[in-house]
Amino acid sequence: MTFEAMWADLLPVGRSAATGGYHRFAWTAPELECRAWFEAEAAGRGLALEPDANGNLFAWWYPADGRRDGAVLTGSHLDSVPGGGAFDGPLGVVTAFAALDALRERGFAPRRPLVVAAFAEEEGARFGVACLGSRLLTGAITPERARALRDGDGATFADVIAEHGLDPAAIGPDEALLGRLAYGVELHVEQGRALVGPVGVASSIIPHGRWRFGFTGQGDHAGTTALRDRRDPMLPFAAMVLAARQAAERNGTLATVGKVAVDPGGVNAIAASVTAWLDGRGPVDDAVRRTVTEIERAARLAAVGHDVKVDVAEESYTPLLDFPHALRDHLRALLGDVPLLPTGAGHDAGILAARIPTAMLYVRNPTGISHAPSEHADIPDCLAGVTALAQVLEDLLEHP
Ligand SMILES: [Zn+2]
Repeated sequence: MTFEAMWADLLPVGRSAATGGYHRFAWTAPELECRAWFEAEAAGRGLALEPDANGNLFAWWYPADGRRDGAVLTGSHLDSVPGGGAFDGPLGVVTAFAALDALRERGFAPRRPLVVAAFAEEEGARFGVACLGSRLLTGAITPERARALRDGDGATFADVIAEHGLDPAAIGPDEALLGRLAYGVELHVEQGRALVGPVGVASSIIPHGRWRFGFTGQGDHAGTTALRDRRDPMLPFAAMVLAARQAAERNGTLATVGKVAVDPGGVNAIAASVTAWLDGRGPVDDAVRRTVTEIERAARLAAVGHDVKVDVAEESYTPLLDFPHALRDHLRALLGDVPLLPTGAGHDAGILAARIPTAMLYVRNPTGISHAPSEHADIPDCLAGVTALAQVLEDLLEHP
């Protein structure tokens, strides 16, 4: 299976014919199809498929001597945001298989195991917490909290994984598995226009988090309720969206409200409640924290004036992650001084880096657009990514 053939197999899975955007949410039909694809690719290569208890998929290539520890892990995720692009996630998984093939073709015999990974629910599009699979694996989220997470239809994470053969009681950190991993490398499509050459190395992941704002007022008739009698949650919500933009400008951060749920959502009804999700990011933790505090203050102030109740909950927060310098500088030199760049996007590699030396490679994205259908990487750049990843893996697998 060449890179192009694998890519062509995955390309139609979960793609909307109308928009070209992908809808591959954890444990929904298209994502299950992606998982089946992963299992078939692993089987076709004679890799040992060893999924963990958290819904993450791992395919192992063991060395001839049967060594099971000191492994090098590479891969990414197969799920998508709503209406996402083809490359965010799958590029890292397809590239991992292709790089493994390249090593085998040149007769390379690894001293260490190589494990190809597909992490579950990286985007958090279904249960609200990004990198859920890698967080569970590394202990960055408690099993109790994960089990209770709900999707948009009210189904809990525990119920959904149980339906797909996982034991909700068994989820959580896997020290035995972590203890077998020596290095992690995730290849990912660049999500801005910052990368000049085809391939780059990540320096850091900027601090980022998600907050849920709930505004509760009184549902009522749009025609019979005087303005002065209304408790309309839409108004403080609107103030909060505007405040987010202003706070981000003041603090040199990013603040985005990209998801909102209105209940009951009738044209001729004042809403009873509005739930909005704030995505906040910035160069340093302090600035992000300050931004969110200012937005919350503005939301509460606006709510008082409309007799609306506000609840704010932090769904996730990931502080600044600086990838280990020794590894990243080593890989950068190995690849011929390719560009080093930070990213504003969260990744499983950032979660793994808390436990094992981890690095990231990027492949150029000429549109600079991500989480949208026009996200793109040219095939020659993807193939340069395969070559670079193979080179990196060969180097790490050779380490005594
Ligand atoms: Zn991704």
